[in-house]
Amino acid sequence: MAGLEENLSAVRARIDAAARAAGRDPATVRLLAVSKTWPAADVRALAALGQVDFGENRVQELLGKAAELDDVALRWHFVGQLQRNKAAAVARTGAVVHSVDRLALVDTLDRAGRSAEAPVEVYVQVDLGGPEGEAAARGGARPDDVPALADAVAGAAGLRLRGLMAVAPRGAEPAPAFARLAALAERVRADHPEADGVSAGMSGDLEAAVAAGATLVRVGTALFGSRPLPCGEFEEHQPRESHR
Ligand SMILES: *Cc1c(COP(=O)(O)O)cnc(C)c1O
Repeated sequence: MAGLEENLSAVRARIDAAARAAGRDPATVRLLAVSKTWPAADVRALAALGQVDFGENRVQELLGKAAELDDVALRWHFVGQLQRNKAAAVARTGAVVHSVDRLALVDTLDRAGRSAEAPVEVYVQVDLGGPEGEAAARGGARPDDVPALADAVAGAAGLRLRGLMAVAPRGAEPAPAFARLAALAERVRADHPEADGVSAGMSGDLEAAVAAGATLVRVGTALFGSRPLPCGEFEEHQPRESHR
């Protein structure tokens, strides 16, 4: 718990410093705490410290924690690859979906959003390149396909287009990738001014993302600690012991 509090203020300080260095108001950058693998008790503890936005990348884990924490005023985000047969369940949690990267998913999520309490808020995920297998494991639409996907989301009654999301390729300088994302985001914003969100930056590269205009950084490790990685960062994992 003490660890979480220190980590939270350290991450906030990093975001604030990065925003100021870029001449931006720190209040324009939200922190999304990626709580994957960590138990609901840790989410509750961070929420008690004022953290509102939490992200998960596995549907079952999202549903479990959302149910366990339904007495806490949180905003959930889904940042993992989404199967169409799980779209309705995610929509019912009210989670913001950061991983819309194909038209078939837009259609399914739209139907889910129409029967949910409110439209599903959506970021279109962009593949910023990198090794081919890595991109496939991570998801994301080819940059050329992004404007059409954004149009489809914006035109769907069950969805609300929030902006673009991306993960920088591993092992490369993040700044050029984030610059490409920023240019694409600007292009989408020209047609959809309401879609002013850019979800980018993680524990290792949030400064570069904020410098490039990220409005929401997704941070796991720097808040909660290292995750065990039995089968790779973006794959299956087991819940861990609580910090408490
Ligand atoms: C796990 C994850 C994060 C957080 O990564 P850290 O390096 O632990 O901060 C951010 N975005 C996505 C999509 C993730 O899956």
